[in-house]
Amino acid sequence: MSTARSLAVLAFSGGMDSSTLAGHYHQHGHELILVSFDYGQRHTRELDSARTIAKHYAAEHHVVDLRTVGALMPGSALTDAGVEVPDGHYEDTTMRVTVVPNRNAIMGNIAAGIASARAAEVVALGMHAGDHVIYSDCRPVFLDALRASVESALEGLHCPRIEAPFLHLRKVDIALRAAELGVPLHLSWSCYRGGELHCGRCGTCTERREAFELAGLSDPTRYETQVAA
Ligand SMILES: [Zn+2]
Repeated sequence: MSTARSLAVLAFSGGMDSSTLAGHYHQHGHELILVSFDYGQRHTRELDSARTIAKHYAAEHHVVDLRTVGALMPGSALTDAGVEVPDGHYEDTTMRVTVVPNRNAIMGNIAAGIASARAAEVVALGMHAGDHVIYSDCRPVFLDALRASVESALEGLHCPRIEAPFLHLRKVDIALRAAELGVPLHLSWSCYRGGELHCGRCGTCTERREAFELAGLSDPTRYETQVAA
């Protein structure tokens, strides 16, 4: 009865985590449907990276336009031009302004809907342990709730498995996994500021640089500021 193929639908930002997620499912032999979201983030630059990495994996790629939704959620430094992107470390309380409310639930549910309609085996999200502190929609309890919600919403329909294989990994582990998988991280984009180069100072740049350093890998990223703050 099931027409499930070995399809995996990934929420795909074009950053380090979701690019490594693409490498992970590619290695496991899945056909990839990569779904990116334009929610009016100031770093739409990441969508160019997403397109480039999708090509690298010969993956089907879609950009879902949520700009009107993003515009209705003011107050996040990622979407509101009036709120500055803070410098610092991910765990700093100042990073709370980078929260986009309910983002992973919105994206995860859209990906799950697509996956059901396309009879995909898996929906995958790229959250990892470093996200847990400030992003409540990246925590294990949220993932369990999303699974339960999707399973009940799709009762009687094709229901994909919802996976987050990096949920308990640190960023450094993701850098190491990416190196193992040969993920083209030089093509990925993290910086919340979305300039020409990675700023090297915002939360996600700080986390990115530290990950390569701790992993003992050479960082392929070109930063505006080459010395760590
Ligand atoms: Zn940055």
